[in-house]
Parts: sequence; structure tokens; C-alpha cells
Amino acid sequence: MFLRYLFIDFDSFFASVEQQNDPKLREKPVGVVPSLGVNTTCCIAASYEAKRFGVKTGTGVWEAKKMCPGIVFVEAGHTSYVKMHNRMIDVIEKCIHVEKVMSIDECFCLVPSHWQTEEMIRQKCVEIRTALREEIGGCITCSIGVGPNRFLGKVASSMRKPNGLQIIRRSDLPEILYSLSIEDLNGVGLGMSKRLGRYFGDEHVSQTERT
Ligand SMILES: [Mg+2]
Repeated sequence: MFLRYLFIDFDSFFASVEQQNDPKLREKPVGVVPSLGVNTTCCIAASYEAKRFGVKTGTGVWEAKKMCPGIVFVEAGHTSYVKMHNRMIDVIEKCIHVEKVMSIDECFCLVPSHWQTEEMIRQKCVEIRTALREEIGGCITCSIGVGPNRFLGKVASSMRKPNGLQIIRRSDLPEILYSLSIEDLNGVGLGMSKRLGRYFGDEHVSQTERT
């Protein structure tokens, strides 16, 4: 039961849904904002094209315009995100049973024991991606992490974004985690990472700016 947890995280979910629903936004830097025309608000999501300019969740509209002059802002449409979420979960369910939905852009599945080989997992991921592309559209991608427990599955899903697959085998531990900063571990926020830094020394606890 080593590769039991398959964690799926949709890439730049709100921005991808907007690009999927409106072809004019595709391949463009997009910032999703709570309301349009307010310079003091911030992006609640950014497309990968905008991320290339450093725009991310939490970047102020005014700042995003400076970082990425061509950025297009779109007002968040939560009803369409929920609709898309439901469709995506249905599509994944046809490939592998969805054990639990964690949030609007995350869910995890339990890999049955006869699928717990790297080959089968890679094949399943291709199936999931193909189904999402064919039944929903090419703008919706996901990053998949597989590991011996849910925590490592989630950590793995964040290691190869976007549209990646990372498998963490028991034999990869602990070395595979050394490249991560402490805040890449789910549940460790800025406060906790500072506290760990105080106990173990900041040189042992690498920190990144969290968004
Ligand atoms: Mg996500």
C-alpha cells in the first residue's frame, strides 16, 4: 500500500475556468478579481501567462498592471466555478473513484491495490488528463501527486505544477523533500516556519514568501 493516495490539484483554477469559458482570454495573462474597476483590490487567481510576470494570488490590481502591462482582469464568477468543479469531479470519477473533495480545486482518490504500480498510475493520470481535455476542454489542467499518505500526496501535487505528475515512493524519503521549503509542507504557515527557524536555525529552515 505504498502508492495509495492520488491527490489532484487543478492548476490556476479560477483563471483556467475563465479561459475555458471565454476563448478571447486564452493564452492571455488573466487576473481574476472580486470586482472590476477597483484598483485597491487584489487578484484571487492568475493564469499561468500572468504568473510568468510574477502575478499571483494576493497581488494587488495596481501592482499587477505594473508587473504585467497587458493583463486582462475578469470578475470572479463563483457560480461558473462551482459548475465546472462538479463537471470535473464527474469526469475524474469515471477514471478513478474520488474519495474526498477537499476544496473547489482539490480532491483525492484512493488507488486500489492492483493499480499501485508506477506504470498503472502513469496510465491513470493520462486517462484523467485525456478525459478532462475531451469532455471539458484544453484550458483545464491539473497537477497530480501520488504518495504513501494523503499529506505526501498533496505535497507531491505541488511539486510539478502545472500539469505535472510527481510520485513519492517510500524509498524516495526523506531526500525528495529536501528541495522544498518548509512552507511547501501543508499546514506549515509563516508563523510556524518562523518558530521552527527559531528552534533549528534559519539556515536549516528555508522559507519562501507565502501567498
Ligand atoms: Mg489549485
